[in-house]
Formats: sequence, structure tokens, C-alpha cells
Amino acid sequence: MMANKINLARQAIMDSSYLVCLQGHNTSMDCGCMDYRDSNVVYDIEEKYGYSSEEMFHASFYNTRPEQFFKYYKQEILEHTGSPGDGPHALAELEKQGILKCVVTREIFSLARRGGCKNVVELHGSVFSNMCSHCRKEYPLEYVKKAKGVPLCEECHRPIRPQVCLVGEQVDNARVTEAAEEIEKADVLLLLDCSMNQKLVTTHLKYFEGNKVILINPAEHFTDTRADIVIHGKVSEILPKIVYGEREDDEK
Ligand SMILES: [Zn+2]
Repeated sequence: MMANKINLARQAIMDSSYLVCLQGHNTSMDCGCMDYRDSNVVYDIEEKYGYSSEEMFHASFYNTRPEQFFKYYKQEILEHTGSPGDGPHALAELEKQGILKCVVTREIFSLARRGGCKNVVELHGSVFSNMCSHCRKEYPLEYVKKAKGVPLCEECHRPIRPQVCLVGEQVDNARVTEAAEEIEKADVLLLLDCSMNQKLVTTHLKYFEGNKVILINPAEHFTDTRADIVIHGKVSEILPKIVYGEREDDEK
């Protein structure tokens, strides 16, 4: 059953003329980043900071309590940036073969890019991109991580802002347009670590004029049937099988 679906997905991907991948936020968990919905993590964070992750990652929290924001941001977010595992590497291989044309991602750890993908639209930005809020000088992640308290610009001593979309903020317009344009060109859409009912998917499906949607997600949802091929499982395990072909001894 599983092997059959993997073959179907492989066929659809290999036969595609413009494959675009839409990557959900959960990709970061598959790549070793912290799972902020794990009940133990939720408890520890609240205990340690007196606020939830969601509260501290909110734009209004950043604006009103920058010291507390950066304490949490440096100790938790920047300490768990994960590493691009088998999922992102398989995507990079598809791009290298000229099959995958673009990755549109919702996660903020540049996993697709770090895995080797070149054409990536990071809808919610990246923790690896940091900029002075005043003179727009750019800074690496390490600079922010090492700074005491709020990281300040060397030139003008204003706060450096991580170029990520905080809760309550609008996604950058240029990125939204770029993503929509790529999806319009796609004939096959590969959805990873997201479900059909998520805003990320419903928003972008409006632009899709192709004929096949492939969904790979560990969690099951009743809306999954809206996709043409659905495989439930970890992307890091499933995608390499699709990209490199399944070995004989894996097929049961
Ligand atoms: Zn500056």
C-alpha cells in the first residue's frame, strides 16, 4: 500500500514539468528544532519565562519588552535551529535534477536553503537574516546570539531586528507575490508537513492551475482526501524513498 503510493508519487514528480513544493512550519520539528506544542516544552517555557512561546513571539511583545523577547529568542529559538536532514537534502536533489523549480516555505530556519535548495521563498523570513532597524546593516545569526541583552547595530546603536515574521505581523508582500507566481506555473504541487485545511495551503491552492497535489504529512486530517496522492509519515523518511527510488528490501 505504502510502496504503491510512493511509486505513484515518484511517477507524478518525475513526469512533472514544473514542480513546486510548499513546506509547512512542522518541517522544523522533523529537522530537530524544538517542538513548541510538546506539553513538556510548553510547561518548561512558561515556568522559565512566565509567558508562553506564542506570547513572547508576538510582535507586541517584541515592541514592548525587547529585553525579555531577546532572552527567550536567543536561549530557545537560536539554540534549536535544527539541521537540514534527509527531507531538505532530497528536495535539493530534485532541484539539482531540474525537476523541482521552487520551494515555498513557512518555516524560519532556512532548512531548505541549508539543505542545498537555491530557489526558496521564505514566506516568514529566516533567523539567519538580521538587520539594523535603522541603517539596515545586516548581521549574522552569531552576532545576535552573542550580544548581551538586545543586539545593537555597531554603526548606529539601534536594535537589530531578526528578519522573521512575528505573530500578528503581515507576511512580506513581495514574498507573497513571488510564491503565488511560482504556484501559478506549477503543474504538480508537493505539500510537505502541512494539511489541506491550513491557511498556508488554502491561500496558495487558489493560484494552482496544475493537475496533481501530493501531500506528505505525519498527521492525518479528514481534509487530506482533497489531495490526489496522500502519504502519512515523516517527510525525512518518505521523501528520500520517492526521490531516490525505493530499495527492494524496503518493499513489503
Ligand atoms: Zn544601524
